[in-house]
Amino acid sequence: MEVSEANDESFGIEVIPSADGKPAPCCPHGPTLLFEKVGKGGEKGRRFYACSACRDRKDCNFFQWEEEKVSEARLLAREAENQSKRPVFTQQENCSRFRKFSSLPLDEKKFCQDCQMLLLPGEHEAHSSHRTTAVSTDQLRRPSVLLRPLDNKKSNAQYLFTDRSSHFLLDTLAGLGYRKVLCVGTPRLQELIKLRNLEQKHEPMKSLLLDIDFRYTQFYSQDEFCHYNMFNHHLFDGEASGAVLQAFLTECDSQKVVMVADPPFGGLVKPLASSFSLISHTWSKLRSSDCSNTDIPMMWIFPYFFEPRILECLPSCTMLDYQVDYDNHPLYKHGKTGRKQSPVRLFTNISPRDVVLPKDEGYRFCSVCQRFVLSLNKHCAKCNVCPSKDGREWKHCSICEKCVKPSWRHCQCCGRCALPDHPCGHGEGQEGCFNCGSLEHKRKACPLKDTHRISHRSNAKTGGKHVSHRPLLKPKAKRKSGAARRAKKLAALSK
Ligand code: SAH
Ligand code: ZN
Ligand code: ZN
Ligand code: ZN
Ligand code: ZN
Repeated sequence: MEVSEANDESFGIEVIPSADGKPAPCCPHGPTLLFEKVGKGGEKGRRFYACSACRDRKDCNFFQWEEEKVSEARLLAREAENQSKRPVFTQQENCSRFRKFSSLPLDEKKFCQDCQMLLLPGEHEAHSSHRTTAVSTDQLRRPSVLLRPLDNKKSNAQYLFTDRSSHFLLDTLAGLGYRKVLCVGTPRLQELIKLRNLEQKHEPMKSLLLDIDFRYTQFYSQDEFCHYNMFNHHLFDGEASGAVLQAFLTECDSQKVVMVADPPFGGLVKPLASSFSLISHTWSKLRSSDCSNTDIPMMWIFPYFFEPRILECLPSCTMLDYQVDYDNHPLYKHGKTGRKQSPVRLFTNISPRDVVLPKDEGYRFCSVCQRFVLSLNKHCAKCNVCPSKDGREWKHCSICEKCVKPSWRHCQCCGRCALPDHPCGHGEGQEGCFNCGSLEHKRKACPLKDTHRISHRSNAKTGGKHVSHRPLLKPKAKRKSGAARRAKKLAALSK
């Protein structure tokens, strides 16, 4: 495995597929996942349940040993806690609020920035000391602009597509004949679909947003939004949402469905893949029997260094060269050189040759590979692929018999290619980074240290002992800006 191609579950903590018949306890984010601490030598540790969605105990401190007996009192307290985290308004209430809001005169349409909610006239008073803004009709159609992007670095940072990327995605999917887009964690894509329908220049498309950010319920009807956790496939509104999802996945009048997911990059690949497989399964069951073992067409947007993990879980996917970029991310911006290039790619089970990448952004078609690649990604006759993953021109090493990053040199001592300043002599069999498996650094210096790991510690109250399950992650120094720090670490990956 290569440097920085982090294998997020192979060291440290592993997710255990749910044991049959044994339901996992629930936190406010739905059923928890079963984790197991794995030592460097592969020795297994104790198993425990922890939140599927939050990697920081600050956000959800659920903790329970697998075999732990939980008292009735604690179960009740837990249930009360889970209830208290539910949204204030039901989705139905939100729908009627939205209708009322839409019919208000312009000068009464207000949005509270502090509470992140649309205000009805009777509520202005209560929010008078808060920051509020007027909401135009256009703004009401762009909730992803109106709402402040969530910026919790560990669990739920929202990185919104640039116009360039969201238009590319939508044009591509429309061009391929899809008429229904299941938007999993892609609020901006859903928004663009609805805006485009208003223009009435294109064939209308349907979309359904599945997202954990329930602020969006304020803007969408029940059949446009489901409060959803993509790490455990949990629909917060139960059967009602299940029916909405089923109806959406049913392809009537040959309206082809496609799924587009843009999960938080710190997310664990395995649970995500199993949720997407469940969606696919639901979709295929709803189809006629002759084509029931195909998968739902999908695009999973994720950084390129997760390629091995994703392909392991979803072997029918291919990683495309297209670089997805974001408005509010310091690093993931579009550019042709150096660090400005986004490391975020599309993983898809749609035939790569059908996904036409724009020529004017520097992509070309490789007739040997039968896919569109970055122009800099030259086909290597020896490897018989266009080898570059990171957008730079890679070069072939005849000793390693493969193409490597341009900054790497073959090291005689290690018998492989590496960065010139790698800790030399730490060849095969030596212990590498405990966090990502790389041999080029120790875990202290791991660029992925707190971007791609989960962090759960036992809670003194609930877990009993002060055992630290993920001590590696706790940042020691006070950070100036999470985003800047993260950007720096991710930048280190492209060396
Ligand atoms: N690029 C996308 C946004 C991606 S940010 C766009 O422009 O539309 C990641 C998205 O996933 C956010 O909308 C966030 O709310 C959502 N999300 C984060 N954790 C989630 C979870 N556990 N389940 C479902 N959605 C989640
Ligand atoms: Zn939780
Ligand atoms: Zn090669
Ligand atoms: Zn080499
Ligand atoms: Zn060396």
